[in-house]
Amino acid sequence: MRSPPRWTWLLFPTLTFAVAAGTAALIERGLPLPVVSTVSLASVILTVLLLERVSPLHAGWNRRPELGDIGLLLLNRGVDLALLAALVLGLERLERSGLLPSALRAWPSALPLPAQAAVGVVCGELVRYALHRASHRPGALWAWHVVHHQPERMYALNGPRLHPANQLWVSAAHGVPMLVLGAEVRAVVLTAVVTAFFVVLQHANVSLSFSGWNQVFATPDVHRLHHARRWAARGVNYGIVIVLFDRLFGTYAAAEPIGESDIGLEGEGSAAGDVASEAAAVVVK
Ligand SMILES: [Zn+2]
Ligand SMILES: [Zn+2]
Repeated sequence: MRSPPRWTWLLFPTLTFAVAAGTAALIERGLPLPVVSTVSLASVILTVLLLERVSPLHAGWNRRPELGDIGLLLLNRGVDLALLAALVLGLERLERSGLLPSALRAWPSALPLPAQAAVGVVCGELVRYALHRASHRPGALWAWHVVHHQPERMYALNGPRLHPANQLWVSAAHGVPMLVLGAEVRAVVLTAVVTAFFVVLQHANVSLSFSGWNQVFATPDVHRLHHARRWAARGVNYGIVIVLFDRLFGTYAAAEPIGESDIGLEGEGSAAGDVASEAAAVVVK
């Protein structure tokens, strides 16, 4: 496998900046938030699909997008918008009825929008890390999350390929804490777009230089291991945007080459990660 050219190291920070700053600029212009988030998400997906054509990790993974994946992408857009509307209306009611203590309203709204999104990403990431690990254990969460682990290739639309219930917790992870703490909806929307960018990019079939970035962010090189059969028994790299909590809780694995046939579930219907660990522990006992 050839190493990607050194200059491609610049693409990750450039794209991240472009998504955050571009979306923030559209929000500041006062455009309707559902339009902004949909336009930004569509731009992200098209850009990453183009990158996969220009610099694929495995040419064999560059097949046409699955219709089911496109269907889930559209369905989950609706789930996202409905959840946000429900949260805003619900919290307004709680506030009017005095059930939401004003001491909780501690969100740093004076910060620029991209900085608020950075805070939102870290808040949401802790919740998401816990839920992602829990969803690799036997039960209802795995029954939903397995949909995300069924494909045997990595490509952009594997990211949003989530059961709608799984999409709910991915979005609620940052939406609930941010809104309860008093964040404006536009800060929540920017956080959602930045998170969606990482979800799409980390599944992309791209060969780019992520040297150094892999130590901090959940890049494609890092997240690929989460979908690799040989890492399933241990359960690694649950992070969506950053790897901070993987590092803190001992589930971080450094990027390594992943072959074209290495992706997918360990055995038909089996849960990856903690489930496999538990099965191994039972056998040892
Ligand atoms: Zn997973
Ligand atoms: Zn994934």
